Amino acid sequence: MALALVLNSGSSSIKFQLVDPKKHATDEPFAVGLVEQIGEEEGTVTLTYDGEKHQVHAPIPDHMVGLDMAFKLMHDKGCGPEDLDITAVGHRVVHGGILFSQPEIITDEILGMVKDLIPLAPLHNPANISGIEVARQMLPDVPHVAVFDTGFFHSMPPAAALYAINAEVAATHGIRRYGFHGTSHEYVSQHVPEMLGKPAEMVNQITLHLGNGASATAIRGGKAVDTSMGMTPLAGLAMGTRSGDIDPGIVFHLHRSAGMSIDQIDHLLNRDSGVKGISGVNDFRQLSKLIEEDDQDAWLAYNVYIHQLRRYIGSYMFALGRVDAITFTAGVGENAANVREDALADLEYYGIKIDKDKNNRRDKGAREISTDDSQVKVFVIPTNEELAIARYAVTLAAANS
Ligand code: ADP
Repeated sequence: MALALVLNSGSSSIKFQLVDPKKHATDEPFAVGLVEQIGEEEGTVTLTYDGEKHQVHAPIPDHMVGLDMAFKLMHDKGCGPEDLDITAVGHRVVHGGILFSQPEIITDEILGMVKDLIPLAPLHNPANISGIEVARQMLPDVPHVAVFDTGFFHSMPPAAALYAINAEVAATHGIRRYGFHGTSHEYVSQHVPEMLGKPAEMVNQITLHLGNGASATAIRGGKAVDTSMGMTPLAGLAMGTRSGDIDPGIVFHLHRSAGMSIDQIDHLLNRDSGVKGISGVNDFRQLSKLIEEDDQDAWLAYNVYIHQLRRYIGSYMFALGRVDAITFTAGVGENAANVREDALADLEYYGIKIDKDKNNRRDKGAREISTDDSQVKVFVIPTNEELAIARYAVTLAAANS
């Protein structure tokens, strides 16, 4: 069986999966694992394969050691890269700037271009690059492919992509809306034309990726025309721990009047805001429990989250003019029926009607949750970014062989 190895390298972790690109979104991957606490006193490598979970604990000074340990553990359990037919390695790369609209086979030149983008994503791209460098050394004979989180948004028109700030400053510093979660928005949106029985170029749709991070995208004929994340993944919807949109003046106020440093404000807005900032918890399962107990802060956090979501849905309906489908995906979008119901409540006038029974039914697959007479169809479509990356990697590797 031909497999793809998919790597998502962070600063202190490497998530990896072995994926059969022919499988469905809800099938379990062939193997899945995580290298964590890289650079700390003690690290952990976890591998789940053949229904069993294995762990190794040891210091992991860097990504090279981490991936080596992962490969050894995989080999010990019978799923090492050398034991299998791995046809491509797919790497998630967070920022492709304006340089990359498509996945790319990684060459030294492409890697150099990804390095040039470090100033735009100083936390994410260096970690992605470390993962790529290490994996290319360890698997030199397999094609490596970079899949960019930003790529899908290249099609956005300038009016949606540009901020209304000084043009020279913006051009010099690469300040514009890039968007993120592109692999997920593209993946789920590609299922919608078939579910509607309409040609892709005729479909206008809104996709809502609601996980720990959250973003909304407006798509016309398969091309993104607007998205809620911005130059960084901090913008847009209220999220688990991120603020989403705030008045930029708040940053100056916190600095000048509250005496907070830029790093403290960065931490506040990225890690200590959103649903967690208001309620104390960022996980929607915990939030739901607190709401059941009638915790007022939890209610407030939920209401702010829903309000912001409706604000974006409304503005994208206007931007698209006609909307054929609205799709929910990712952890919250796939599982939290109350979020879906409240995000689209009382919109019959706009042709949106949720069927409560369908919405409340627990189901892992792609499904419709709107009523038969709802003009706008509402779907839940499970996302699978690793599968999407695996498919890109294998397709590109085959085309270049
Ligand atoms: P990430 O953005 O890290 O990929 P996920 O898409 O896995 O995140 O979403 C994670 C979030 O999904 C969790 O924080 C949790 O709030 C939410 N979630 C997962 N399962 C459920 C569930 N059964 N009910 C409600 N929320 C859920």
